Order: sequence, then structure tokens, then C-alpha cells
Amino acid sequence: MPNLGDVQCMCVLFTCNTMVMTNDQSRVLVLGSLNMDLVVPVAAQPSPGDTVLGADVQTFPGGKGANQAAAAALAGGNVSMLGRVGNDGYGDELRAALNSVQVNTNRVLSTVGPSGMAFITVDDNGENMIVVSSGANRKLVPTDLREEDFANVSVLLMQLELPLDTVTHAAALAWDRDITVILNAAPVAPLPPELLSHISILVVNEGEAGSLAGLPVNNVTQAEQASQKLIDQGVDSVIVTLGSAGAYWQSNNNGGLIKPHSVTAIDTTAAGDAFCGALAAELSQGNNLEEGLTFANAAGAITVTKLGAQPSLPTKIEIDSLLLTANSSPHTN
Ligand code: ADP
Repeated sequence: MPNLGDVQCMCVLFTCNTMVMTNDQSRVLVLGSLNMDLVVPVAAQPSPGDTVLGADVQTFPGGKGANQAAAAALAGGNVSMLGRVGNDGYGDELRAALNSVQVNTNRVLSTVGPSGMAFITVDDNGENMIVVSSGANRKLVPTDLREEDFANVSVLLMQLELPLDTVTHAAALAWDRDITVILNAAPVAPLPPELLSHISILVVNEGEAGSLAGLPVNNVTQAEQASQKLIDQGVDSVIVTLGSAGAYWQSNNNGGLIKPHSVTAIDTTAAGDAFCGALAAELSQGNNLEEGLTFANAAGAITVTKLGAQPSLPTKIEIDSLLLTANSSPHTN
């Protein structure tokens, strides 16, 4: 049977530089999806019209929003989650998973109907097929956002698994309050101008960068071109994560490559979520973009050295430890 770790969808991670200084003034607000992942191992994927017998279902809390909230909390952030779950039983499990890593779920709302779910079959080769049913996530609307949700928030972290008008509205509200707005544009979708103009940091992988900029992005030079195009469209800063090549970043008058840590990659699941969560946590502690990138780059690297999603997410201690080792060894980075 395949290794279920390959398709688990939750992650976590991060910390600040010296002491963790989480206080009410440095909250990370994650506005995003919560999904229960239902994973069925199969010998081979069915073709259309086929029925195949699978092994027992396993459930894993996931959703990009919940994953990144967990990642930020493990990385040392003071994190609150704003989202919506259903009244189907999974809602309570999804909240409990976040509570177990100290994410505040007071504003994870409930609705009548199903929670978001991902139906995943994994075959003996480790290949998976996934159908996501957005469920309650689709019902998180702009009017769900409240003034007090942004109180004492220094970083708003969002993805694109919620209705786009909700994401756009939240970005504008946060921007008006001088909150750093991080958008991880995944799964990628065209971004309206009013959203682009309210993004402090856009985080995308190569495929997402290429799709948004309308250019192929397969190397650092192309990442730079795509970043500049997105900055021209109104975004303050762009980070293009480059997998084993590290990450490229660009602001209006600065930019560069963050070199990858040299690690043995076993499973790349959740690397991007770990990166985003760690970045948000680090920035919320008052660190600058380059410091945040250094921390996030280490978080992503640790994640790929372990199987699975949630179990692979590093803690602040692990991240700090990798950075310490890298700094003391000229050959590591
Ligand atoms: P996504 O999962 O969104 O496609 P990436 O694969 O680009 O994201 O990974 C996110 C980050 O994790 C990278 O920018 C890098 O910092 C780190 N990372 C990913 N894969 C590796 C690797 N093989 N070696 C070292 N770092 C990695």
C-alpha cells in the first residue's frame, strides 16, 4: 500500500529570532480554508466508470488555511484562524486539530451543511487523485469579517481556497489598518486589480508565478521577470519559491535569491505551507522581509526531509537549529 504520508495535507511551523515574544500586538490572522482529507489507499486508480476496492479510509485535518495557521503557530506565532466549517462532525475535529497546536479558533464559524473535504485516492506508486469539495469554505462571505478580527493583528495570511471577494475584502480592510498582507496565491486564480493593490507580499511557486504573470517561470531570471510584472500590477513584494533551488524575492528596489539549504528531500508535501506559515510568524515578531525569508527557507527545507504533511512541519526550535548549523558551516548553505 502507498505511504499515506505523501498526501496528508496539514502543516505547521515557525518562530522568531531570539525569544518568542508573542503578545496581543503581534497576532497572525489566517483567513482561509479548513478541509478534512479523506484518504483511501488503492492498488491502482480507477478509470472512469470503474469501481475499485480500497483499504480503510484515514482522515487528516487539512486545507491550505488550516495548514498554514498550524505552521505559523508551530513556528512561534500567536495565531488566530478565521474560517468556516460545517455541522457534520468534521468541523469539531478540524477545530480541535488547530487547538492542539495553540491556534485560536474562536472565529472558526459553523454553518449548516458539510465541511470542506478532500477525497484522495493514493495508489501503490504513490500517485494520488484528489477531488476537493469546498463545502462550508464557500460560505465564508465578506460580511463575515468584523472590525475586531483585525484588532492587534500585524500580519494577515491568506490563500485562494475561499471566495475571491472575501479574500479581496479582507485584504482591503487589513491594508487600511497598516497590517502586512501576505497572499499565497494557491490554488492559482486570476487576481483582480483591487486585490493586487492591497498585497504586501505575494508568495507563489514557479507554476503560480508563471500563470499570474503570463510568462514561463523555470529559473531565477524568469522568476525575476515575473516578479517585476506582478509588482508593476500593484503588489509590493513578490516571493517565488523555487523548491530545491530556494526562493527568489523582489521588492521595488531590492531583491535576490535565498539559497536553499542542502537537505535530502524525502517528501515535498507541505513545503509551501510551512514556508508561508513561518514567514508570517517571523514577520509578526517585527522581523524584516529578509529575516522572514531566511526563516521560511529553513522551515521549507526541514519539511521536505520528513514524510507527510502535518508530521513534517518543523518547530521553531528545529528551524533555529538548522539556521545555527548553516551559519556555522560554510558548506551547508
Ligand atoms: P510549493 O510546495 O508551494 O510548490 P516549493 O516546492 O517551492 O513550494 O517549496 C517551498 C520552499 O521550501 C522553497 O522555497 C524552499 O525554501 C524549501 N524547499 C522545498 N524543497 C526543497 C529542497 N529539496 N531542498 C531545500 N529546500 C527546499
